[in-house]
Amino acid sequence: MSNDDIMEWDESETVEEKEDKPTKLEDSPHEYFLVSRSQLTHLFQRCLRCGRLPRGRGASPKRVRKSTSPPPRTLFITTRGTSATISWYCTCKSGGKNRQSWSTQPLIAGTEMRDGNLSVTAAMVAAPIDHSAMKHFSSALRMPMFSKRSFNINKRLYVQPIVKELYLEQQKEVLALVANEPLNLALDGQFDSPGYSSELCRVTALDVTT
Ligand SMILES: [Zn+2]
Repeated sequence: MSNDDIMEWDESETVEEKEDKPTKLEDSPHEYFLVSRSQLTHLFQRCLRCGRLPRGRGASPKRVRKSTSPPPRTLFITTRGTSATISWYCTCKSGGKNRQSWSTQPLIAGTEMRDGNLSVTAAMVAAPIDHSAMKHFSSALRMPMFSKRSFNINKRLYVQPIVKELYLEQQKEVLALVANEPLNLALDGQFDSPGYSSELCRVTALDVTT
């Protein structure tokens, strides 16, 4: 590639992705979205419970317009893996003494686990992306990420058993399909030879008709 190729810029090209057509949120094919800190700050200026702006100013847009330079609401954030919990004080709850909160991911029923953390683990296994690559990606993006230990535990306890179950199910279906048919196999064997012994051999077999 020459320098000319790198510098070439077609002005008709747009840098931003094209926006897709509006879809009802419940019909969206997407399950997770990347939200920036500035957008969360903007969103939580109004209390999620009563709609008021900070200092108890009313939810009515008329009152808001009259006020001058509103002081921003103080928001707090805690993260657990990829999940964030925003909390704030508002007079609508015990006169503003009790903290209210909202999380970016729901808890999985009956557990203390945020569902996105498990989904990210499952997606990493399916992709596949190892924890160190994901950790590099998330730290470059300044996005929180769960530890390698959590990843390994969730992978072992929740993701791998499901993968195994589905694999065995699929295997049963395939075996039922070819049970009475002659197989047409292609085989490839590889020797691992410690000390040129050819002691270990791994053979991969593939039915080329199915
Ligand atoms: Zn409130």
